Amino acid sequence: MTIDLPLQAPTAAGLIWQTVRNADAKSDAEREAILADPGFGQHFTDHMVDVCWSEKGGWHRPRVSPYGPIQLDPAAAVLHYAQEIFEGLKAYRHADGSIWTFRPEANAARLQRSAKRMALPELPESIFLDSLRQLIAVDGAWVPSADETSLYLRPFMFAKEAFLGVRPAKKVAYYLIASPAAAYFPGGVKPVNIWLSTDYARAGKGGTGAAKTGGNYASSLLPQAEAAERGCQQVLFLDDERNLEELGGMNVVLVTKDGRLITPESDSILEGITRDSILQLARDRGLTVEHRKVSIDEWREGAASGEIVGAFACGTAAVVVPIGRLLAEDFEIVHEGDAAAELALSLRDELTGIQYGRVEDRHGWMTRLDA
Ligand SMILES: *Cc1c(COP(=O)(O)O)cnc(C)c1O
Repeated sequence: MTIDLPLQAPTAAGLIWQTVRNADAKSDAEREAILADPGFGQHFTDHMVDVCWSEKGGWHRPRVSPYGPIQLDPAAAVLHYAQEIFEGLKAYRHADGSIWTFRPEANAARLQRSAKRMALPELPESIFLDSLRQLIAVDGAWVPSADETSLYLRPFMFAKEAFLGVRPAKKVAYYLIASPAAAYFPGGVKPVNIWLSTDYARAGKGGTGAAKTGGNYASSLLPQAEAAERGCQQVLFLDDERNLEELGGMNVVLVTKDGRLITPESDSILEGITRDSILQLARDRGLTVEHRKVSIDEWREGAASGEIVGAFACGTAAVVVPIGRLLAEDFEIVHEGDAAAELALSLRDELTGIQYGRVEDRHGWMTRLDA
């Protein structure tokens, strides 16, 4: 049984949100038990957001409703042609109990860029931000407070129209779900081993590499399984000129012995908000950032000559993680020195310090969600 609440006042986006409370919401004790050991992506909060879009009506009927299965016509275009995009960001609880998120306008803008590439309608930033606030208004208690824990927010959009012809769908749905997340590295950050995939590509020139779309992930699963067989946690993909692209879901940065940071420039990679922020913090420290094409041979030769002393990967889930070893079919790069890992971890500390409210937010990156 659910209880309908009266309609609420129009929000910044000018839409009237409806909230249908989950009458089967977890009890405080059940929720606390989950928050004590949430893992990642296994438990979901009591509610979800959905907003409809149609060619005729535009964005309409924004609502918060009990979390649960979605009813979908078997002919829904997303199930056949993968017209789908998503985002990932986190809600952080600060020491005073308030709830914040990090650079949500950047996620809103990236969702719009992904939408454009996948012929989906662009969700206005105001509706995106409202959706985060509306969900936190009912599920704020799901934001954990232990060190480095968060509530992972997963906005996504897909083609809902039941139609097997191939063209952009005329009916689309935007959803937001949320999942409490444990600290990514409970015992302290550990370097990862990376497998260099040369048999498979993640994206191609003019493809969908710069869009956050499920198909890019689907095509990374087989090489990811190869990596796991070789004892590696992640895969590194190259473009067809042997330039670095990125890992399956994280961007890469190389560190030189004089403290320069080199990161791939390419229109076939997903521009991470974590990478952008980490590199800004590095520039604030007076470090030089080179955003340019960088080949696997430059990394290999630089590591051999001592010019490149380390590398790290970055993304919302793990924030920053040093790369200990890159394994390829016929060679290996090993980074054992401490300097690069120390730089990576110190940038990581500064960024998480901002996110958790311990370090001054001098770039205005934080947005409060519960007020
Ligand atoms: C989401 C994502 C990233 C990291 O982006 P952040 O905004 O830092 O979380 C990197 N690569 C891919 C392929 C991604 O999907």
